[in-house]
Amino acid sequence: MQAFKILVSGRVQGVGFRPFVYNLARSLELSGYVRNDAQGVEIVVEGEKAQEFVERFGDELPPLAKIERVEVTKISPQGLRRFEIKKSQNGLKRTFISPDMSICKECLADIFDSNNRRYRYPFINCTHCGPRYTIITDLPYDRKNTTMAPFVMCMECQKEYEDPTSRFFHAQPISCPNCGPRLYLDSLKNYEAIQEAARLLQEGKILAIKGVGGYHLVCKAKSLAVEELRRRKRRGKKPFAVMFKDIEAIKEACEVSEAEERLITSNENPIVILKKKEPFELEAPDIDRLGVFLPYSPIYVLLFDLIDFALVVTSANISDEPIVKDEEKIRTLGIADEVLCYDRKIERSCDDSVAVCVEDKPLLYRLGRGFAPRSFKLTSSLPPVLAVGAQQKSTIALGFEDTLILSPHIGDIANIESFEYFTKVVEDFCRMYEIAPRVVVHDLHPLYETTKYAKSLGIQTIGVQHHLAHVYAVKAEMELIDHRLKEERFLALAWDGTGFGTDGAIWGGEFFVEDKRVAHFDYFDIVGGERAIKDIRLSAWGLAKKYGIQMGDRLFDLGYEKKINTFTTSSVGRLFDAVAYFAGLASFQEYEGYTGLLIEKAYRGGEDRYDFDIKNGKISIDFGSLIQDDKTLIPTRFLNTLADIVVTLAKEYGLPLLFSGGVFQNKTLLKLSLHRLQKEGISYFVPSLFPINDGAISLGQLWWFKSHF
Ligand code: ZN
Ligand code: ZN
Ligand code: FE
Repeated sequence: MQAFKILVSGRVQGVGFRPFVYNLARSLELSGYVRNDAQGVEIVVEGEKAQEFVERFGDELPPLAKIERVEVTKISPQGLRRFEIKKSQNGLKRTFISPDMSICKECLADIFDSNNRRYRYPFINCTHCGPRYTIITDLPYDRKNTTMAPFVMCMECQKEYEDPTSRFFHAQPISCPNCGPRLYLDSLKNYEAIQEAARLLQEGKILAIKGVGGYHLVCKAKSLAVEELRRRKRRGKKPFAVMFKDIEAIKEACEVSEAEERLITSNENPIVILKKKEPFELEAPDIDRLGVFLPYSPIYVLLFDLIDFALVVTSANISDEPIVKDEEKIRTLGIADEVLCYDRKIERSCDDSVAVCVEDKPLLYRLGRGFAPRSFKLTSSLPPVLAVGAQQKSTIALGFEDTLILSPHIGDIANIESFEYFTKVVEDFCRMYEIAPRVVVHDLHPLYETTKYAKSLGIQTIGVQHHLAHVYAVKAEMELIDHRLKEERFLALAWDGTGFGTDGAIWGGEFFVEDKRVAHFDYFDIVGGERAIKDIRLSAWGLAKKYGIQMGDRLFDLGYEKKINTFTTSSVGRLFDAVAYFAGLASFQEYEGYTGLLIEKAYRGGEDRYDFDIKNGKISIDFGSLIQDDKTLIPTRFLNTLADIVVTLAKEYGLPLLFSGGVFQNKTLLKLSLHRLQKEGISYFVPSLFPINDGAISLGQLWWFKSHF
């Protein structure tokens, strides 16, 4: 007879971990108990097969559980009679808010089983799946603290909820056709509403469908409805994501690697950007990529069971505002012909996550459904601190005691709606975790709404330079996930569109060693202020001027000489814009990242590049030659030049490289750089759990604070 005490930490609460332990222990005829404690889960097992339990339990985890640390101690048997799930210890202060997860395999089987009482039930969920973040109103995570509170469990659901052998054990949003929310479309209810939705989509109608974190606008892909949707949404050329019935359908439309397939079919179920095989010009004009995903909620699964075509599925919002979550608002928006919705409230909206794969690893563009909020245990303690991020792709990060939390994607805080949503997320997190920040960390840009908000709080404020925050976000991933030492030295790249520099210039092509900016792309001037982000000719004309080449109009020249509404920049994002113009690919930035995608599409391979020069930490590319070069060769030579600059500097400093900043969402540039580094035997780190773009600025701000105090 043996006995063990096992302490487990990681994502082990609210994911069906205790029932899993209970069932495994009982199947091995063990006695003992399992309970949640402040650090995670405590297990005591005793019996003949206790050793077998220790060996096996790590291999058969419930799908959402993730073990970070296990501590096994041999103890003397106490003669316990049975195995039980004990109430939590007093030490338990907090349960973390989990992300919303897509439907699990077992629930999927249930809704297609005509003998199951949840057959075709659009709100099935269990401890392994379903909504969390978007329905939680308060902590602890209990039914009464969710928007499921008004729905009273029926007897059968109650029984499953209390049964440790059931996968519905303590599944807070548990429900069934007798007691749960109702789906409706006009006067049609539940499955009939889904059948009608399928019919309308087939007919070419545009529907608003209430997803987990907000409404989607949905129509039949590759049909005229897509054009109509673009027109009604006033959406220019920005690509739409497409939802496919299954992975086979995706493989017909796009190239899919093994890593991409894993990501697409994961529990997190993000939109994954792939290389097109078919044109999909209506969905993603001009570019060779397409964002795809699979049905993630029972509603979409049931809908796809009735149709044999793909759907354009895009967040319902007006330009850059947050995704719409209320029925009244979606109806007044007037974009959809019909609305398929349900009577459970979405407490706070949450967008779909977006990712790509580079070298078989995910690279995240946006953390939303499935991925965020993310919580971490720290090895040291923090005072209550809030980090408010930048202006675009905003997120917030919160630190307190030994905990760090990163919120899902909030959006671009340029309008009232987004700002309100931002403040709601800040207030919700502080209220639910019962903390009052004593310090707020913000960007240095004085005009960012987040900076102004930080300064209005009346607590201690700390400004962190934008690109340093980029670098520190990556360091956070290395320390938190990879458990690398913080003393490691790197040459850190931070390349993006815009970040306020300590010298008042707009930075965006920076190299750091520790906190010191050791190199940057040579400055050039752009006339036109904010307008230059859309009108990319302004970047091109400004860059040409520096090389004594006359391109702009008279007004531009006047502004340039008198420095009217002019800014000085080292931004690689603006270099991409200028180069796209020089190459004749575009004269207007249709959406963020557009010029980069055009340059990628035009890339032809090889080693050809332009000359560059690195002097006193200033990097200048021979743009004089570039501007006069054969237009068709410019994109290829430009990307090769950037990749060579990366390697040259890495060699010069003799340090491993760390990649950060939105420019590296450019898959071709990143791949070229990595291949060259591999060839030279130089090591590097690319983040794969947090966004490489401004979505991780809040995390970086917080990590900078943690590292300096
Ligand atoms: Zn499930
Ligand atoms: Zn029920
Ligand atoms: Fe940035």
